[in-house]
Amino acid sequence: MLLKKQNNHPFLIAGPCSAETEEQVLETARRLADAGVDLFRAGVWKPRTRPGAFEGNGATALPWLRQVKQETGLRITIEVANGNQVYEALKHGIDVLWVGARSTVNPFSVQEIADALRGVDVPVLVKNPVNPDLDLWVGAIERIRNAGVTQIGAIHRGFSAYAKSKFRNAPYWEIPIELRRRMPDLPLICDNSHICGNREDLLEVAQQAFDLNYDGLMTEVHPTPDDAWSDAKQQITPFVYREMLQRLVVRRETTDNPEFLEHIENLRHKIDEIDMELLNLLARRMRVAEDIGRYKLRNNISILQSTRWNEILEKGYQQGRLRGLNNEFIEKYLTAVHQESIAHQQEVMQQETTAQRPE
Ligand code: PEP
Ligand code: MN
Repeated sequence: MLLKKQNNHPFLIAGPCSAETEEQVLETARRLADAGVDLFRAGVWKPRTRPGAFEGNGATALPWLRQVKQETGLRITIEVANGNQVYEALKHGIDVLWVGARSTVNPFSVQEIADALRGVDVPVLVKNPVNPDLDLWVGAIERIRNAGVTQIGAIHRGFSAYAKSKFRNAPYWEIPIELRRRMPDLPLICDNSHICGNREDLLEVAQQAFDLNYDGLMTEVHPTPDDAWSDAKQQITPFVYREMLQRLVVRRETTDNPEFLEHIENLRHKIDEIDMELLNLLARRMRVAEDIGRYKLRNNISILQSTRWNEILEKGYQQGRLRGLNNEFIEKYLTAVHQESIAHQQEVMQQETTAQRPE
């Protein structure tokens, strides 16, 4: 099964958060069967943050999913979190397995799943770990690959953050972008439901993913979302799901249109020139920081002065805003530049202090 975008048709995974009853699963599948969905999802073993919530029907739900497949022809994917679940899923003809965010963080769990998969080449999708750690994500993919699985995809479902934001799980797009740089052929799928945690932002997040050339989408769909036994707030009806798909613009990665290529080349040239200018300016800034370091040393003054740092930040926010640059970016940029300036100052101070020290 190709988990990739094909001829501009994204790879679509949809279905309820949890398989609640046979009727609910079948009704969702019937209503999704002609929506262009490639894979029907349903959670059978549910990892819940707090005890006492609905933890899934377990193996009881597996024959219902077989029924979905027989009746609608849709292929099926479920989450597996240990070796026994892999065994049960395969016994019931599940087509694709996925490793959930709470398992990807744990190399013991991933290895157990990988060991259970040895010798069975079933496609596996690996969700990002709950914490923003790219190496854990890559490591989980490698463990599954080392078990001999040849069809692997990555699912971006966002990352836990303590800070309140409009997202349930912060997307931190730079992490999947870096994953793509490291593993360019790996199919990349966006789970917009778990990133958003609500219904309102699903289209916007899906569009952002396709603007970044993702291969597909995983979305939670339920016939009566308000009554769902898990993740009620983020699930949508099959009707709303179709509407979302109709409004999505799927873009191509590139084209061979010569006019486009020439224009893009010119714009990229401009970007390269600006990047060079920025590097020259940054280098100049560091030289000035070194002068400051020497001057402070001569006057026995410490490097870090928090009032000065606050002043730089405040001014940056203010001036950045006037230029259409948001606070978050300004903070990241100035923090990086400031840290590097401190490092340069430290270096000159150390060199000169060592040189002045009596033998
Ligand atoms: C899910 O897909 O229902 C799920 C539990 O996802 P995650 O592992 O991303 O939290
Ligand atoms: Mn869910």
